[in-house]
Amino acid sequence: MTITQDQNPQPVDAAVVPRFAGLATFMRLPAVNSAAGLDIALTGIPWDGGTTNRAGARHGPREIRSQSSLMRRVHHVSGTEPFSIARIADVGDVSVNPIDLRDALKRIEQDIRSIVMHGAAPLIAGGDHLTTLPTLRAVAKERPVAMIHFDAHSDTNDTYFGDNPYTHGTPFRRAVEEKLLDPKRVVQIGIRGSIYDPDDHGWARDHGIKIIYMEEFVRRGGEEVMREARAVVGDRPTFVSFDIDCIDPSMAPGTGTPEIGGFSTREVQAMIRLLEGVDIVGADIVEVAPPFDVGGITALAGATVMFELMCVMAKHIAGKRSAKRSR
Ligand code: MN
Ligand code: MN
Repeated sequence: MTITQDQNPQPVDAAVVPRFAGLATFMRLPAVNSAAGLDIALTGIPWDGGTTNRAGARHGPREIRSQSSLMRRVHHVSGTEPFSIARIADVGDVSVNPIDLRDALKRIEQDIRSIVMHGAAPLIAGGDHLTTLPTLRAVAKERPVAMIHFDAHSDTNDTYFGDNPYTHGTPFRRAVEEKLLDPKRVVQIGIRGSIYDPDDHGWARDHGIKIIYMEEFVRRGGEEVMREARAVVGDRPTFVSFDIDCIDPSMAPGTGTPEIGGFSTREVQAMIRLLEGVDIVGADIVEVAPPFDVGGITALAGATVMFELMCVMAKHIAGKRSAKRSR
C-alpha cells in the first residue's frame, strides 16, 4: 500500500470493520512497503536464532500484530492520539534467515538501517534479544546511543558453547565493545534470577552500566527508579529495549527464559509513561514466545507495551516538530 502525504495513516475503524476481521497489522494500521514519509515505522523481526534454551520468539511479531487489534486510538491517561500527531504505519517484517545466524544479523541490520535512513524511528516487535544487536548497529551507526533496558537479565555475558559471541545472552556486551552503546548512559531495570557466576554482572558494572535489581525497584518504587533512569540517559539519543521477561511469568508466561518475582504489567505501564520527553530514537519489545503463551496474554502485554512506547515516541516527535516550526 502507498500512503498519501497529506494525511496521517489511520487504523481501520473498529466501528466499521470489527477487530477480529481483516489482515492483522500492528495497531490495524496500513501495511506499507517502505518507511518513507513515516515518523515511526512499526516492524517485526521474526527470528530467534540467538536463543540458548526455549525457542519460539520467531513467532512473536505475528501474535503481537494479532493482539494489537485490541488497541484503540487514544491513550487514556496522557490523552495522546499517536496516529493524529505522527505518521505511523506497519512496514512489515525485516528479512531473516532462520538457519544462518550471521546472515540473519546482516539482513536485520540492513532493513532497520533503511528505516533509519528514511528518518523514521523503528518500533520493533522481536524476535529474541540478539536481534537488538543488529538493530543497534543500524540505529547507532553515526554515534553511540544511550539505552534504557527492561529485563530480568543483563544480557552482557561474553560467550556461550565455547567461543560463540552471538546469543541472546550477549547482545549488550557486543554493543558496548562495538561502541554502539555508551555504557555510562545505559541503565538496566528489573534484573533478577539465578546467575552462572557470582561475577556475572561484574563486566557490566566495571564498564559503568547502571544495574537496578528488582529488589532495588521494590525498595525505591517506579517513580524514583525512572527519575534515575532519565538522569542516566539525559538528553542523549536513547534506545529503549524491553524484554518481556521483565514482567512476572504469571502475567507473561510466553517467553523463553522466565524468572519469577517480576514486574506487574501495571508497573511497566507506569514506568514507560515516565519516559515522556526522552529522545527515543528506536525501541523494541523482544522475547515474546507464543508457543509458551496462555490465551495470548503475553502477546497482549507485548502489544500494549508497544502502544505505550508508541504514544511516548509520537508525543516527543510532535513536540520536536512544533518547536522547530516556532523557531
Ligand atoms: Mn534479554
Ligand atoms: Mn531476559
